[in-house]
Amino acid sequence: MSTVVIDGKALAADVKSRIAVRIAEKNHKPHLAVILVGDDEASLVYDRSKQKAAKAVGMECDIFHLEEKTSENGLLALIEHLNQDENIHGILVQLPLPAQINPEKIIGAILPQKDVDGFNPYNAGLLQSGSDKAVVAATPKGILHILHSVYPSLKGMHAVIIGRSNIVGRPLASLLLNHDCTVTVAHSKTANLPELCATADILVAACGCPKLVKRNWVKSGAAVIDVGINRIEGKLCGDVDFEDVCGQAGFITPVPGGVGPMTIAMLLENTYQAYLNQTEHS
Ligand code: NAD
Repeated sequence: MSTVVIDGKALAADVKSRIAVRIAEKNHKPHLAVILVGDDEASLVYDRSKQKAAKAVGMECDIFHLEEKTSENGLLALIEHLNQDENIHGILVQLPLPAQINPEKIIGAILPQKDVDGFNPYNAGLLQSGSDKAVVAATPKGILHILHSVYPSLKGMHAVIIGRSNIVGRPLASLLLNHDCTVTVAHSKTANLPELCATADILVAACGCPKLVKRNWVKSGAAVIDVGINRIEGKLCGDVDFEDVCGQAGFITPVPGGVGPMTIAMLLENTYQAYLNQTEHS
C-alpha cells in the first residue's frame, strides 16, 4: 500500500493565509499576550516562533518574559492586569512553570474568553460536555483539521489515542467523541497496546516515546497521527517509527512538518476567534 504523507506545513499555511486576509480587513488588530517565566531555552524558542507567526498574519503579539524566581502572586497580578486590558484578546502562559508556581491556579486565573490555549477548566469542561462554544486546545484542534483534510466525516471510526495528558490526549478524546468517533484512550499502564492500536482506523501517538509505534501496531490503511516531538542524537523524531509504518498506514503525519505547524496555526485561529468574540459583542 502506498502511504500518503500529510503536509502539515501546507495545511497550516492555508489556515494562516485565510486569517491574514480577514485581519487585513480590520482597523483594530487581534492582540496576543504570551507569558514565559524563566529561561528555558526550548520554551523561549517556541514562544518566539508563536510571536513570529502571529505577527506574520497581522496580529500584535507581546512576550512577557518574567524571571525564574517570579512568585505565584506576581504572575497572578500580571494575568489580572491582562484580563482587564481591553486591548488584549488572548493570553497564554508557557508551561512548564517553575516549582513555586501552581500551574492549575495560573491557568484557572485566565479569563475563559481570553484562554486561547483552551486549558482553563471552564473551556475543558465545555469541550467535555459536547458544547461547540469551547475554546479547543490547539494541538487537538489541529489534529482534527488534519483528519478532516483526508476524511470529510469521522463518523463511526475507531480512534485510539496513546497518551492521556490534559493538553493532548484528553481534549482530543472529547473532540473526536464529539465528531462521532468511537474513542479508546491508551496510556502507560494499558495492557496489550500493540494489539489495541492495530484495531484503530485512526491512531494518534502522543506519549513522548521515540519511534514507539511499529508497523505491526498499525491496521492496513489507517490514518496515523504522530504528535511526539523527541530528539535522538540531535535529530527530531516522533512517537511513530515513520519508515517502518510507511507502506502499512493509509495516511501519516511526519515529524517535523505534521502536527507541529498545525498547532501554531490553531493557536492563531483561537486568538482571532477570541478577538471577534470580544470586539463584535461589546
Ligand atoms: P505527557 O508527558 O504529559 O503525557 C504522556 C502520556 O503518554 C501520558 O498519559 C502517559 O501515560 C503516556 N505514555 C507514556 N509512555 C507510554 C507508553 N510507553 N505507552 C503508552 N502510553 C505512554 O506528554 P504530552 O504533553 O501529552 O506530550 C506528548 C508528546 O507530544 C511529547 O513528545 C510532546 O513533546 C509532544 N507534543 C507535541 C505537540 C505538537 O504541537 N506537535 C504539542 C504538545 C505535545
